[in-house]
Amino acid sequence: MATMIIEGDRAKAASGKTYEVRNPATGEVVDVVPAGGPADVDKAAQAAHKAFQTWSRLPANQRREILHKAAQHMLTKIEEIAVILTKEQGKTLLESRLEAKRFGENIGWFADLADKVHGQHVKLPDTTTYGLVVRKAIGVCGAIVPWNFPLTLAANKVAPAIAAGNTVVLKPASTTPLSTLACIEALIEGGLPEGVVNVVLGQATGEAIVEHPLIRKIALTGSTPTGKRVMAKAAEQLKKVTLELGGSDPCIVLDDADLEGAARAISVGRFFNCGQQCLSTKRLFVQEGVYDALMEKLIARASKLKPGNGLDKDSRMGPMHTETQRAEVEAQIKDAVDRGATVVYGGGRPKGGDYDKGWFIEPTILENVPDGARMWTEEVFGPALPVRRIKDLDEGIRLGNDTQFGLGSSIWTGSMASAHRAVQELEAGYTWVNALVIAHDELPFGGTKQSGFGKEHGVEAFLQYTEEKSVVYGGVG
Ligand code: NAD
Repeated sequence: MATMIIEGDRAKAASGKTYEVRNPATGEVVDVVPAGGPADVDKAAQAAHKAFQTWSRLPANQRREILHKAAQHMLTKIEEIAVILTKEQGKTLLESRLEAKRFGENIGWFADLADKVHGQHVKLPDTTTYGLVVRKAIGVCGAIVPWNFPLTLAANKVAPAIAAGNTVVLKPASTTPLSTLACIEALIEGGLPEGVVNVVLGQATGEAIVEHPLIRKIALTGSTPTGKRVMAKAAEQLKKVTLELGGSDPCIVLDDADLEGAARAISVGRFFNCGQQCLSTKRLFVQEGVYDALMEKLIARASKLKPGNGLDKDSRMGPMHTETQRAEVEAQIKDAVDRGATVVYGGGRPKGGDYDKGWFIEPTILENVPDGARMWTEEVFGPALPVRRIKDLDEGIRLGNDTQFGLGSSIWTGSMASAHRAVQELEAGYTWVNALVIAHDELPFGGTKQSGFGKEHGVEAFLQYTEEKSVVYGGVG
């Protein structure tokens, strides 16, 4: 049975309660884990608070070295961690390996910033004084993570937090705790001091983290409704929040686009991770002149994405993560079809044999989806893509912005002028021009509108785990 990680303790829940983590491809139990609650969060917050006293005072170059060593050790365990991730989440082994690798690399990337981000020296009018702006770690930070990219999204929070000298209480999604435990355990084996990152498990620990008075900052990746609840609760103690929430990213393809490149990017953008991605191609707008040619290419690519158990070498798309999640996407497809949409590829479940044991679904492409359909107005968190013909860029930008969300966006065009307009006018935290929808460590990532605020990745993320303090030194003249 798995345990929580609270300082040196490999802890069961104070209540003694447990729950099962099941494999989405087979329904089999992968492990039994503690169902923690407020008492466990309190223990973890106390441990993190104690660890903060030493961790935050370490010379920054020592923190950098410890984190690099820990990350290197974790990276030797990619294969075993990838298998755990596939079993609990469903994604293919290839996707799991990439994600496990990203976890270690992310820790290393932020480790390098530990002693590279400086404050300021400020000259004051009175020359017997001078000012400093110093950057300090905040304290204990809460990290709350969803199930779609359990490791990537944990690292996005943990890596900048601990590099800046904070300590963490981390809560994975209740259905994907095991690979996260394995990664943190590997960091500790590699030299990360106990107590710097503590992992609590169970649905009830999320709210308890937001409420705990020792936890000074909350970073959440999750749905927009969860973000609103967390922000309201955090406001009671005026905690800092970073919210990475839902998205419905538009992609515009114009007549002068590289269609092969666009088809590849859209296929990866919509079907990677069985479509359960925040940054993703979720609404496709294609100019009339290339519509038919692009659809042909997209259908050809979708037909190669064989669904299957993520552990099988020839699977190209794992199952959806839960039965509820699959039912939600199926309901969104049905709503579109009931309103008159046409399914041009997929639309159902692969059936028979092992398929009947898991939450499998076909990659799906729809056209003629009418205005007002759920696929246009809601986030579609699965492998189903609505496509619409557009006359020109104006229409693409208008439709692209016609959403409450503002996470990512992309455009495919051979025209610098069209690309520039899209970059200026699309309301989103990211715009890709003729490029795969992939987030880069160097670029700050985060949404606008109801996709949240605050940044992960980049120096900006590191800064958000620090507080500035102004200092005046007098009597020096
Ligand atoms: P979710 O909002 O249901 O849960 C996310 C996490 O928040 C889980 O760990 C959950 O236990 C916890 N949680 C739920 N209610 C809480 C509360 N009241 N207080 C504290 N914690 C609470 O999301 P999900 O279904 O796990 O993930 C899918 C969603 O995440 C999608 O909307 C997706 O777009 C979004 N997402 C966003 C990004 C991004 O970077 N913007 C990345 C990945 C996923």
